Amino acid sequence: MTSYSRCKCHPASLGLSILLVAAAACGPGERPPSVVIVVVDSLRADHLHHAGDPRDLSPRLDALAAQATRFSQAGASAPWTTPSVMTLFTGLTPGSHHVDLNDRALDAAVPTLAERFQEAGYRTAAVMPALTLADHFGFDRGFDDFIFATQGHSNVSGPWSISHAIEFLRGHRDEPVFLYVHLWDVHYNYNPPVPHSIRFQAGRPAGPGESDDITALTGPGHHAASLSPERVAWLEGQYAGEILFTDEQVGRLLDELDRLGRTDDTVVVVTSDHGEAFLEHRVMGHTVHLYDEMTHVPLMVRWPGQVAAGRVVAEQVGLVDMMPTLLDLVGIPFAPHLFEGRSLAPLLRSARPEEEGPPVLLGTSRQTMKRGLRTPAWSYQVDLVTGEDELYDLAADPAQRENLADSLTGEASVWRRRLCDRLAQRLPGGEVGIDPLPADLQESLAAGLRTLGYVSPAGSQGGRQSDPVAERRTILQAAGCPVGLASRP
Ligand SMILES: [Zn+2]
Repeated sequence: MTSYSRCKCHPASLGLSILLVAAAACGPGERPPSVVIVVVDSLRADHLHHAGDPRDLSPRLDALAAQATRFSQAGASAPWTTPSVMTLFTGLTPGSHHVDLNDRALDAAVPTLAERFQEAGYRTAAVMPALTLADHFGFDRGFDDFIFATQGHSNVSGPWSISHAIEFLRGHRDEPVFLYVHLWDVHYNYNPPVPHSIRFQAGRPAGPGESDDITALTGPGHHAASLSPERVAWLEGQYAGEILFTDEQVGRLLDELDRLGRTDDTVVVVTSDHGEAFLEHRVMGHTVHLYDEMTHVPLMVRWPGQVAAGRVVAEQVGLVDMMPTLLDLVGIPFAPHLFEGRSLAPLLRSARPEEEGPPVLLGTSRQTMKRGLRTPAWSYQVDLVTGEDELYDLAADPAQRENLADSLTGEASVWRRRLCDRLAQRLPGGEVGIDPLPADLQESLAAGLRTLGYVSPAGSQGGRQSDPVAERRTILQAAGCPVGLASRP
């Protein structure tokens, strides 16, 4: 048997002073567990059969959920790809890692999830099919293999992603691997191949002179109020077809783990970077809102024999928790004070009962400027441009249709104070620097992103600063927070 010395070096020999010591995931000479993370872009939580969708559109993910611990209240920190995946990779929210538009790279001082696994001796790979995940932002850091292609709106890219992932697994079948696979087909435009394109057909397809291109239909801001209910139903049915198609692709990867005999020693995580809207709040697509259709995502973790199978956890968690969770789960030492998220490993091991948990912090700086907090019971958000706030009772109003901010003024002011306190919170590990990309690179990325509908109209980037403390102060002022909170130590 191959000897893996990294299993023996936790954590004392590393000499780190502040560590949360994880339970040993392997003994001397044993291979540590591999980790496979699958992110299905734009997959909203309520569009999986096991989460309540009546259609049979996710059989493989349903079966996986039955073998996994599933988090029914998982939040993405941002409603679009770049800041959300960077949160997954850093354990920091977008306001702290600063990669929240297309103009900045991750501060080199911030350790990434892949770097930590690479340092621990894992063979690491990422399969990235979108410009929003380009290496310029820092997404390539820590990956031995960074497999990247810009797949655009209409390519069928899932087979490309999964084939590369399978090739990587086969090429490193005797090593512990850390594999990140991003699947892009569920992202608009919705054009699943036959037969998935006819499986959930509803409404009315595009007629002569009409388009199914979401960017063309909506324009900047993704507003599409003039779209008829029949056309929206058609687009949503095609979105459902993309989910079924992607479900099959995830199944290919899971089958390969079985074939390689690696299912039992592999932690599999399936989640999404954000959801997708179908005019619930006057918008199609994503990026601009913080409502659940854009920020409530699936999250499941499977590790046979180590993580409870079939358990559903209903406490508030977020993608921000994934980095400390995965390090903790496999036994890589880490310093909790470097993260805004928390380890869910004790919960995954059923070692602790569910608790209330902190609200997840939500935000977007693309096309709109909003910040919010969400718990399973309440959702609160402030528009940083207009100053208007919104409060929703999620138990009574899960669709977030009745804004209670004006009727429950006392409750709303408590939530604004909670949001202000959260926005003012500084990282115990120190402020993360802002690393602007060169101007020519910013422009070329912006040009590419415009083809994906990621447009930043003039004025939407207000408040951007070169100094993180000044930027935090600007956001707090825009959110109507008390003067002085920004300078609080
Ligand atoms: Zn995305």
